[in-house]
Amino acid sequence: MNVLNRRPLFVLKQMVVLVVMMMAPASQATGQARTGETVIQKATEQFEESPLTITSLSQGLYVFSGDGGNVTAIVDDGSTLLIDSGLASRISELNDAIFRTTMRPVTRLVNTHWHFDHTGGNTYFGSSGVTIIAQENVKKELSSAEDVPFVGLRDGHYPPQALPGLTYQSSLTLQQGSQKLTLENYGPAHTDGDTVIYLSPANVVVVGDIFSNHFYPIIDLSSRGSIDGMIHSLDQILAQTDEQTKIVPGHGPWTTRANLKDYRDMLVQVRHRIKDLVAAGKTMDEVVAAVPTKDFDARWASGYVTPEVFTRMVFSSLAGSSASR
Ligand SMILES: [Zn+2]
Repeated sequence: MNVLNRRPLFVLKQMVVLVVMMMAPASQATGQARTGETVIQKATEQFEESPLTITSLSQGLYVFSGDGGNVTAIVDDGSTLLIDSGLASRISELNDAIFRTTMRPVTRLVNTHWHFDHTGGNTYFGSSGVTIIAQENVKKELSSAEDVPFVGLRDGHYPPQALPGLTYQSSLTLQQGSQKLTLENYGPAHTDGDTVIYLSPANVVVVGDIFSNHFYPIIDLSSRGSIDGMIHSLDQILAQTDEQTKIVPGHGPWTTRANLKDYRDMLVQVRHRIKDLVAAGKTMDEVVAAVPTKDFDARWASGYVTPEVFTRMVFSSLAGSSASR
């Protein structure tokens, strides 16, 4: 069964809950996966049921949250540029909220990566003539069936109008009003088509699912994601940011560089522990039983990625590429 089949929408979802909070993080419902539920089933339920909230980061810069991955809007005199497009089943609600907030038509859409909760509005926007921009591998992932191990995500085969019309390989610069957008790909990390977007002079960075605040991440092994790549990308982001930078994660409220650093340090420690267990010849189940995330779970296990699923993804990432090193 296709796990992405949507259940009927509730009336509640038609109500846009406008929570405009100047300079303050939004809250987000979280929860553990129930027995037998995949990570993606649990995440999809959350994305379908969470109210849509709007946070103003600074003049002309908004984050829409709840309906999938965070959607960032950058407004200039005549248009809105979006970063990510949320969940397909909530695109009308999102589009209405964007227009009411920005009063400008969306003309460009950047995808941070190919996953359904960040590209669900691509068909809608692409059909209306919006230019979709992404790292070149996003086009490949969106047009072929993908099966992501351990999380239950099966996706791909987007229609042509949902695919990026403008792609880049490692770096691209865009201008939206007074904001310069620098799009960077640091190699495979969460997926093989991640884009990190730096906004200047706003001093905001949109990092997609390289970081979710504050959950264990998904490492998409179907599209060359890896724990080493995640850490590499985070090191690049940390080098390009300062204490004042607002970090917009793929999910959850915006946060500071200090929290991004804590997350990076957690990944480094978990990687180190699992690498040692792999080198000692432990099987995946033995590594899971050793609970290498134990002292981090209180802070990072409140999302839809359980410690076990995270451990299995890190194990596979290390055992598949560098177990013999
Ligand atoms: Zn993702």
